[in-house]
Amino acid sequence: MPYSVRFFGTSSATPSLQRGFACLGLIHKNKLEGEDIILMDCGDGSIRKIMETNTHCGSISNIFITHYHSDHLSGLIQVIETMGIEKRTRDLFVYGPKGLKEYFSIAQKTTSVASNRRFEVNIREIEQGEKTLLGEYVITPVSMQHTIPCLGYRIEHSAFSAAYTGDTEPCANSISLAQGVDLLIHEATYLKKDLAKAREAKHSTPREAAEIAIKAEARGLVLTHVNDRYESDKEMLQECERIYAKTKIACDGLEIEL
Ligand SMILES: [Zn+2]
Ligand SMILES: [Zn+2]
Repeated sequence: MPYSVRFFGTSSATPSLQRGFACLGLIHKNKLEGEDIILMDCGDGSIRKIMETNTHCGSISNIFITHYHSDHLSGLIQVIETMGIEKRTRDLFVYGPKGLKEYFSIAQKTTSVASNRRFEVNIREIEQGEKTLLGEYVITPVSMQHTIPCLGYRIEHSAFSAAYTGDTEPCANSISLAQGVDLLIHEATYLKKDLAKAREAKHSTPREAAEIAIKAEARGLVLTHVNDRYESDKEMLQECERIYAKTKIACDGLEIEL
């Protein structure tokens, strides 16, 4: 299949030796032109995780950031720096909630990122419901419920649909984000036994993610934003197997066809 989701980083706010910070790519493989990648989130060290999967960062056309916690944003400058070093000429588009223009302007001034670059970095601040048309894709941001403003993204294409929550606690909007999608990529930061922590930090448990998938009638569910405090994926899967039997846990390097 020419379309897939590739997970570059799947950890929550603390990375582990196995997992890097949040970063995934919506991949379109084209026999003649190679890959086109829409990146979602770009936590610290994402450029290295991208390279580990033999992915070329020149293939990234657009980047969508869900929110500005550092585990989702702080690798952006490194990705742009690498594009500059690789002499990219194609303009880059970066989307995210309000605040992205100010962040990039300060980061650019402070770090002189890719100062001699031959491409434009177009920053687009977007709001809930503001659709972005990218070739055959329609990408719709939906406001999630987190400790700071966070946009989940719904991706529609004639061949498939997918949704990525970023960080959120369960909410009515995450059900509408995921309504009927082929693949829901949902965060699951805390197990049920740590539910109080999940509420405090406005995150979800695997069980809650599975309940959202059921309510939204999603046809597939992958959990990401995995907490290093838990020893294995088994506990996460046990929480959702009776609710949503086909749940998968993302790991760095995982690729799922759409
Ligand atoms: Zn996070
Ligand atoms: Zn967060």
